[in-house]
Amino acid sequence: MQYASSDKNLIVLVDNSFADRFTRLALLKRNFFKTNASVVFVLGDVDTTDFSLTAKHTIKESKLSNVVGVLPGKKLKAEYVVFSGHYDHIGIGEPENGDSIYNGANDDASGTTAVMELAKYFKSANNNERTLIFAAFTAEEVGGFGSQYFSKQLAPEKVIAMFNIEMIGTDSKWGKNSAYITGYEKTSMGDILQKNLQGSGFTFHPDPYPDQQLFYRSDNATLARLGVPAHTISTSKMDSEPNYHKASDEVSTLDLKNMTEIIKSIGISAQSIISGKDTPTRVDTSELR
Ligand SMILES: [Zn+2]
Repeated sequence: MQYASSDKNLIVLVDNSFADRFTRLALLKRNFFKTNASVVFVLGDVDTTDFSLTAKHTIKESKLSNVVGVLPGKKLKAEYVVFSGHYDHIGIGEPENGDSIYNGANDDASGTTAVMELAKYFKSANNNERTLIFAAFTAEEVGGFGSQYFSKQLAPEKVIAMFNIEMIGTDSKWGKNSAYITGYEKTSMGDILQKNLQGSGFTFHPDPYPDQQLFYRSDNATLARLGVPAHTISTSKMDSEPNYHKASDEVSTLDLKNMTEIIKSIGISAQSIISGKDTPTRVDTSELR
Protein backbone atom coordinates (compact mmCIF):
# COMPACT_ATOMS: atom_id res chain seq x y z
CA MET A 1 0.00 0.00 0.00
CA GLN A 2 3.09 2.20 -0.08
CA TYR A 3 2.08 2.92 -3.69
CA ALA A 4 -1.08 4.68 -2.54
CA SER A 5 0.96 7.55 -1.15
CA SER A 6 3.79 7.63 -3.67
CA ASP A 7 4.81 11.08 -4.81
CA LYS A 8 6.29 9.66 -8.03
CA ASN A 9 4.51 8.36 -11.10
CA LEU A 10 4.79 4.59 -10.94
CA ILE A 11 4.18 1.52 -13.05
CA VAL A 12 3.72 -1.43 -10.71
CA LEU A 13 4.22 -4.83 -12.33
CA VAL A 14 2.05 -7.37 -10.56
CA ASP A 15 2.86 -11.04 -10.83
CA ASN A 16 0.16 -13.41 -12.06
CA SER A 17 0.16 -15.18 -8.70
CA PHE A 18 -1.75 -12.13 -7.37
CA ALA A 19 -4.38 -12.35 -10.14
CA ASP A 20 -7.16 -13.21 -7.66
CA ARG A 21 -6.63 -10.05 -5.72
CA PHE A 22 -5.91 -7.81 -8.66
CA THR A 23 -9.57 -6.98 -9.34
CA ARG A 24 -9.80 -5.51 -5.86
CA LEU A 25 -7.55 -2.69 -7.00
CA ALA A 26 -10.33 -1.50 -9.28
CA LEU A 27 -12.63 -1.23 -6.29
CA LEU A 28 -10.36 1.09 -4.35
CA LYS A 29 -11.81 4.53 -4.16
CA ARG A 30 -10.12 7.70 -5.22
CA ASN A 31 -9.72 8.81 -1.61
CA PHE A 32 -7.66 5.69 -0.90
CA PHE A 33 -4.88 7.10 -3.07
CA LYS A 34 -3.38 9.99 -1.15
CA THR A 35 -1.33 11.20 -4.05
CA ASN A 36 -1.58 13.28 -7.17
CA ALA A 37 0.89 11.02 -8.95
CA SER A 38 -0.25 8.41 -11.46
CA VAL A 39 0.06 4.81 -10.38
CA VAL A 40 -0.56 2.17 -13.03
CA PHE A 41 -0.81 -1.50 -12.09
CA VAL A 42 -0.01 -4.04 -14.80
CA LEU A 43 -0.89 -7.70 -14.26
CA GLY A 44 0.97 -10.42 -16.09
CA ASP A 45 4.25 -12.22 -16.58
CA VAL A 46 5.98 -9.13 -17.75
CA ASP A 47 9.64 -8.48 -17.38
CA THR A 48 10.53 -5.29 -19.10
CA THR A 49 12.23 -2.01 -18.53
CA ASP A 50 10.46 -0.16 -21.28
CA PHE A 51 6.78 0.70 -21.19
CA SER A 52 4.61 2.99 -23.20
CA LEU A 53 1.19 3.90 -21.95
CA THR A 54 -1.51 6.14 -23.39
CA ALA A 55 -4.44 7.24 -21.26
CA LYS A 56 -7.23 9.54 -22.28
CA HIS A 57 -9.55 11.35 -19.89
CA THR A 58 -12.77 12.94 -20.96
CA ILE A 59 -13.93 15.38 -18.30
CA LYS A 60 -17.62 16.13 -18.19
CA GLU A 61 -19.26 18.27 -15.54
CA SER A 62 -22.37 16.91 -13.84
CA LYS A 63 -24.45 18.68 -11.23
CA LEU A 64 -25.22 16.29 -8.42
CA SER A 65 -26.95 16.70 -5.08
CA ASN A 66 -27.04 15.03 -1.71
CA VAL A 67 -30.51 14.72 -0.21
CA VAL A 68 -30.55 15.65 3.47
CA GLY A 69 -33.27 15.90 6.10
CA VAL A 70 -32.89 17.23 9.63
CA LEU A 71 -34.90 16.52 12.79
CA PRO A 72 -33.84 19.21 15.26
CA GLY A 73 -33.01 17.94 18.75
CA LYS A 74 -35.28 18.74 21.67
CA LYS A 75 -32.45 19.71 24.02
CA LEU A 76 -29.04 19.00 22.52
CA LYS A 77 -29.62 20.87 19.27
CA ALA A 78 -25.96 21.46 18.49
CA GLU A 79 -25.06 17.77 18.79
CA TYR A 80 -25.66 15.77 15.62
CA VAL A 81 -26.23 12.10 14.96
CA VAL A 82 -26.02 11.24 11.26
CA PHE A 83 -27.68 8.34 9.44
CA SER A 84 -26.54 7.96 5.85
CA GLY A 85 -26.37 5.80 2.76
CA HIS A 86 -25.47 6.48 -0.84
CA TYR A 87 -28.18 6.66 -3.49
CA ASP A 88 -25.99 6.49 -6.58
CA HIS A 89 -24.85 3.28 -8.22
CA ILE A 90 -22.82 2.58 -11.32
CA GLY A 91 -25.47 3.45 -13.92
CA ILE A 92 -25.75 1.76 -17.27
CA GLY A 93 -23.04 -0.76 -18.09
CA GLU A 94 -22.15 -3.97 -19.85
CA PRO A 95 -25.38 -5.85 -20.57
CA GLU A 96 -25.85 -9.09 -18.63
CA ASN A 97 -28.57 -11.31 -20.10
CA GLY A 98 -29.88 -8.31 -22.00
CA ASP A 99 -30.03 -6.10 -18.89
CA SER A 100 -27.73 -3.10 -18.98
CA ILE A 101 -29.26 -1.18 -16.06
CA TYR A 102 -27.35 -1.61 -12.83
CA ASN A 103 -30.05 -1.03 -10.23
CA GLY A 104 -27.86 -1.36 -7.16
CA ALA A 105 -30.69 -2.72 -5.03
CA ASN A 106 -28.27 -3.87 -2.35
CA ASP A 107 -25.58 -1.29 -3.15
CA ASP A 108 -26.99 0.91 -1.85
CA ALA A 109 -30.76 1.23 -2.19
CA SER A 110 -30.85 -0.99 0.90
CA GLY A 111 -28.92 1.66 2.84
CA THR A 112 -31.02 4.58 1.63
CA THR A 113 -34.16 2.59 2.47
CA ALA A 114 -32.83 2.26 6.01
CA VAL A 115 -32.14 6.00 6.18
CA MET A 116 -35.69 6.84 5.04
CA GLU A 117 -37.33 4.32 7.36
CA LEU A 118 -35.29 5.56 10.33
CA ALA A 119 -36.22 9.14 9.47
CA LYS A 120 -39.91 8.21 9.44
CA TYR A 121 -39.57 6.32 12.71
CA PHE A 122 -37.71 9.01 14.62
CA LYS A 123 -40.03 11.70 13.28
CA SER A 124 -43.03 9.81 14.63
CA ALA A 125 -41.26 9.04 17.94
CA ASN A 126 -40.62 12.79 18.20
CA ASN A 127 -38.38 12.52 21.26
CA ASN A 128 -34.82 12.92 19.96
CA GLU A 129 -32.75 15.04 22.33
CA ARG A 130 -29.88 15.31 19.85
CA THR A 131 -30.37 16.62 16.32
CA LEU A 132 -30.71 13.85 13.75
CA ILE A 133 -29.45 14.28 10.22
CA PHE A 134 -30.55 11.87 7.49
CA ALA A 135 -28.37 11.97 4.41
CA ALA A 136 -28.56 10.20 1.06
CA PHE A 137 -25.23 10.80 -0.63
CA THR A 138 -24.50 11.10 -4.30
CA ALA A 139 -21.38 9.94 -6.14
CA GLU A 140 -20.06 7.35 -3.69
CA GLU A 141 -19.15 4.88 -6.40
CA VAL A 142 -16.98 7.34 -8.29
CA GLY A 143 -14.99 8.42 -5.24
CA GLY A 144 -17.16 9.50 -2.31
CA PHE A 145 -17.68 13.05 -3.56
CA GLY A 146 -21.13 13.49 -2.01
CA SER A 147 -20.00 12.58 1.50
CA GLN A 148 -16.82 14.62 1.16
CA TYR A 149 -18.87 17.70 0.35
CA PHE A 150 -21.34 16.94 3.15
CA SER A 151 -18.56 16.50 5.71
CA LYS A 152 -17.31 20.00 5.02
CA GLN A 153 -20.70 21.56 5.80
CA LEU A 154 -20.58 20.53 9.48
CA ALA A 155 -18.21 21.28 12.31
CA PRO A 156 -16.87 17.78 12.93
CA GLU A 157 -16.80 18.25 16.71
CA LYS A 158 -20.58 18.67 16.66
CA VAL A 159 -21.07 15.28 15.05
CA ILE A 160 -21.45 12.80 17.91
CA ALA A 161 -21.87 9.71 15.74
CA MET A 162 -22.41 8.64 12.17
CA PHE A 163 -24.24 5.48 11.13
CA ASN A 164 -23.41 4.91 7.49
CA ILE A 165 -25.45 2.05 6.11
CA GLU A 166 -24.10 0.16 3.13
CA MET A 167 -25.39 -3.08 1.64
CA ILE A 168 -27.65 -4.64 4.24
CA GLY A 169 -29.87 -6.62 1.85
CA THR A 170 -28.19 -10.00 2.06
CA ASP A 171 -27.54 -12.18 5.10
CA SER A 172 -24.16 -11.63 6.73
CA LYS A 173 -21.57 -14.40 7.06
CA TRP A 174 -23.10 -15.22 10.46
CA GLY A 175 -26.59 -15.60 8.96
CA LYS A 176 -29.68 -13.68 9.88
CA ASN A 177 -30.04 -11.12 12.67
CA SER A 178 -26.47 -9.96 12.48
CA ALA A 179 -24.43 -7.27 10.77
CA TYR A 180 -20.93 -5.87 11.14
CA ILE A 181 -19.48 -2.48 11.94
CA THR A 182 -16.37 -1.29 10.14
CA GLY A 183 -13.57 0.19 12.24
CA TYR A 184 -15.19 -1.34 15.32
CA GLU A 185 -12.12 -1.01 17.54
CA LYS A 186 -11.53 2.63 16.66
CA THR A 187 -14.24 4.05 18.98
CA SER A 188 -16.60 2.84 21.70
CA MET A 189 -19.62 3.16 19.40
CA GLY A 190 -19.80 -0.57 18.56
CA ASP A 191 -19.81 -1.49 22.25
CA ILE A 192 -22.62 1.00 22.92
CA LEU A 193 -24.69 -0.44 20.08
CA GLN A 194 -24.07 -4.01 21.25
CA LYS A 195 -25.05 -3.11 24.81
CA ASN A 196 -28.32 -1.60 23.59
CA LEU A 197 -29.12 -4.78 21.67
CA GLN A 198 -28.56 -7.18 24.55
CA GLY A 199 -31.39 -9.68 24.75
CA SER A 200 -32.76 -8.71 21.32
CA GLY A 201 -31.31 -11.70 19.49
CA PHE A 202 -29.53 -9.36 17.10
CA THR A 203 -25.76 -8.94 17.07
CA PHE A 204 -23.40 -6.35 15.64
CA HIS A 205 -19.97 -7.89 15.03
CA PRO A 206 -16.63 -6.21 14.34
CA ASP A 207 -15.84 -6.13 10.61
CA PRO A 208 -14.60 -9.64 9.66
CA TYR A 209 -12.77 -8.43 6.53
CA PRO A 210 -10.07 -6.13 7.94
CA ASP A 211 -7.74 -6.67 4.96
CA GLN A 212 -10.37 -5.11 2.68
CA GLN A 213 -10.01 -1.77 4.48
CA LEU A 214 -13.77 -1.22 4.39
CA PHE A 215 -13.54 1.48 7.06
CA TYR A 216 -11.71 3.65 4.55
CA ARG A 217 -13.79 2.73 1.53
CA SER A 218 -17.26 4.07 2.24
CA ASP A 219 -18.93 7.37 3.04
CA ASN A 220 -18.04 7.23 6.74
CA ALA A 221 -14.34 7.71 5.95
CA THR A 222 -14.28 11.48 5.48
CA LEU A 223 -15.85 12.25 8.84
CA ALA A 224 -13.83 9.50 10.54
CA ARG A 225 -10.65 11.18 9.33
CA LEU A 226 -11.84 14.28 11.19
CA GLY A 227 -12.18 12.28 14.41
CA VAL A 228 -15.91 11.58 14.25
CA PRO A 229 -17.07 8.14 15.44
CA ALA A 230 -18.27 7.38 11.93
CA HIS A 231 -18.78 3.75 11.03
CA THR A 232 -20.37 1.74 8.27
CA ILE A 233 -22.89 -0.94 9.11
CA SER A 234 -23.13 -3.72 6.53
CA THR A 235 -23.92 -7.37 5.98
CA SER A 236 -22.04 -7.68 2.70
CA LYS A 237 -19.99 -10.86 2.40
CA MET A 238 -16.92 -9.42 0.74
CA ASP A 239 -15.68 -12.87 -0.30
CA SER A 240 -18.98 -14.10 -1.81
CA GLU A 241 -21.50 -11.53 -2.92
CA PRO A 242 -22.35 -12.77 -6.43
CA ASN A 243 -24.37 -9.72 -7.48
CA TYR A 244 -21.88 -7.10 -6.27
CA HIS A 245 -21.50 -4.38 -8.90
CA LYS A 246 -23.44 -6.49 -11.41
CA ALA A 247 -26.66 -5.83 -13.31
CA SER A 248 -28.10 -8.69 -11.25
CA ASP A 249 -28.07 -6.60 -8.05
CA GLU A 250 -31.88 -6.61 -8.13
CA VAL A 251 -34.40 -6.27 -5.33
CA SER A 252 -35.47 -9.91 -5.84
CA THR A 253 -32.07 -11.02 -4.50
CA LEU A 254 -32.56 -9.23 -1.17
CA ASP A 255 -33.77 -10.70 2.09
CA LEU A 256 -36.24 -7.95 2.94
CA LYS A 257 -37.37 -9.54 6.19
CA ASN A 258 -33.84 -9.69 7.53
CA MET A 259 -33.19 -6.20 6.22
CA THR A 260 -36.16 -4.95 8.22
CA GLU A 261 -34.67 -6.52 11.36
CA ILE A 262 -31.36 -4.78 10.67
CA ILE A 263 -33.05 -1.40 10.26
CA LYS A 264 -34.98 -1.92 13.50
CA SER A 265 -31.80 -2.93 15.29
CA ILE A 266 -29.98 0.18 14.09
CA GLY A 267 -32.86 2.26 15.45
CA ILE A 268 -32.89 0.46 18.81
CA SER A 269 -29.11 0.42 19.20
CA ALA A 270 -28.83 4.14 18.43
CA GLN A 271 -31.33 5.10 21.10
CA SER A 272 -28.94 5.92 23.95
CA ILE A 273 -26.78 8.02 21.62
CA ILE A 274 -29.81 9.93 20.34
CA SER A 275 -31.05 10.59 23.86
CA GLY A 276 -27.67 11.97 24.92
CA LYS A 277 -27.12 9.22 27.50
CA ASP A 278 -24.15 7.74 25.62
CA THR A 279 -21.43 9.54 23.69
CA PRO A 280 -18.99 7.37 21.75
CA THR A 281 -15.26 8.06 22.00
CA ARG A 282 -13.67 9.88 19.07
CA VAL A 283 -11.49 8.31 16.39
CA ASP A 284 -7.81 8.84 17.15
CA THR A 285 -6.82 10.28 13.78
CA SER A 286 -3.11 9.85 14.48
CA GLU A 287 -3.70 6.10 14.29
CA LEU A 288 -5.37 6.18 10.90
CA ARG A 289 -3.29 5.30 7.93
ZN1 LIG B 1 -21.91 1.02 -2.02
